[in-house]
Amino acid sequence: MFYVTTPIYYPNAPPHIGHAYTTVFADVMARYHRLIGDDTFFLTGTDEHGLKLQKVAEKIGKRPKELVDEMSDVYKRYWTMLDISYDRFIRTTDTDHERVVKKALEILYNKNLIYKAKYSGYYCVDCEKFYSPEEYEVIDGKPYCPIHKKPLEWIEEDTYYFKLSDFDGYLKEILKSYIVYPQIYAKEILGKLMKESLRDVSIARPAERVSWGIPLPFDQKYTTYVWFDALLNYVTGAGWNSDEKKFKKYWSSVYHIIGKDILWFHTVIWFAMLKAMEIPLPKKVIVHSYLINRGLKIGKSSGNVVAIEDLLDRYQDSDGVRYILMRVLNLSKDIDVSTELFDSIYNSELADTFGNLIRRVGILAIKKLGGDITQRRVNNRLLDMADKTIESYERLMNDFNVSLALELIMGLLREANAFINKERPWEKNDPSKDIYSLLEIVRVATFLLTPVIPKASQKITRAFGLKNQHINDLSVGSEDKFSVNDAPILFKKIKT
Ligand SMILES: [Zn+2]
Repeated sequence: MFYVTTPIYYPNAPPHIGHAYTTVFADVMARYHRLIGDDTFFLTGTDEHGLKLQKVAEKIGKRPKELVDEMSDVYKRYWTMLDISYDRFIRTTDTDHERVVKKALEILYNKNLIYKAKYSGYYCVDCEKFYSPEEYEVIDGKPYCPIHKKPLEWIEEDTYYFKLSDFDGYLKEILKSYIVYPQIYAKEILGKLMKESLRDVSIARPAERVSWGIPLPFDQKYTTYVWFDALLNYVTGAGWNSDEKKFKKYWSSVYHIIGKDILWFHTVIWFAMLKAMEIPLPKKVIVHSYLINRGLKIGKSSGNVVAIEDLLDRYQDSDGVRYILMRVLNLSKDIDVSTELFDSIYNSELADTFGNLIRRVGILAIKKLGGDITQRRVNNRLLDMADKTIESYERLMNDFNVSLALELIMGLLREANAFINKERPWEKNDPSKDIYSLLEIVRVATFLLTPVIPKASQKITRAFGLKNQHINDLSVGSEDKFSVNDAPILFKKIKT
């Protein structure tokens, strides 16, 4: 069983490279687990309530629901372009989700974990978040949002609080376990909890200010705070409160993939909510760092925002973009991206190494052996290397280490290209052992690359007559027949 989630995205603007980074990562993990035979469920979606969307809708003269209907379709279109294989696209305006939020609120209210009290503080509308003096920036003596660099608003109002402070000790214990990966992020949160004691968190907004959201079931004059609403999508998606059988099946293997900017919500607040609702914690929260854009200037992209369609244009298809994003994937370190870096990954790995090998092996098999290869002798050096690659690949992918797994496969493919240069099979009278060995490398590599470049894998499968296989039957030398009918050019080199 494998259940993987992305954060649900706030659809006030179309997705950009940052959303693609997280979503492709989750998709690759889902495809990998399907490939190894796990019963897999992959959830992504849109976070559709809250003041920011309410204001965007007002500004363009639409009802909020109209806006989010359009925007959730925009997200779906982008995910189709990037070949994202989600099982459910959840929207927080979905009926089953609204029921879940109300149910969760009732549970906490009946347990006296929600109470009414006054709130005052500095608030950022764009973040929909109150900022404490330790958090906000001071410019000309006035408090500013540290993210948006805009002045904060002073707000005083009655609200409902969730008794987060009750969970202080629990959270400190949990964060010492391996639940957050990489663990440095747990230490970061733990450090924060040690420094200042946990305060209760407001989970409602007055409906007169924020009308676009789910009303509190016990006080209709209030709207549920958008984060409280959004986090619950993960249990809705798995069937909590509607399909207990499904929920039992998937919830025990849930992995949340998130960017480090939303770590606090996904550890402190979410873990406390789950504990309060007596739902087990996720198996792991997988956190990745940022792509830092200082030198990526592609197409219409401006500033820090790189448009997905510009990436798709430049790297020809979803496979190119997916490969590049996964090749730079890093969980603990921010990565500087640039056109030079992306181009060089594409050209040297996809075009020159993998694409070139496919082309050469395809031509050799057709020209020298008429496309039909039935012999099974194999070069020992290549065999050893391929078997080691398969073994390490599984270990790395189970650890969410996609980038290293790709590096490893590239090592194998480079070796295969070097083998052709050295053996010169085109000059031999009987090159069948060489060509069979190369086809075996192609078969194994194609299989292992399937989660990252599914379209190219399919093309190779057709061109080389490969069968569907299980990872346990991959070992080199096991295939008894290839019928090569084409030598496709998969990745056209980019002129830099
Ligand atoms: Zn802000």
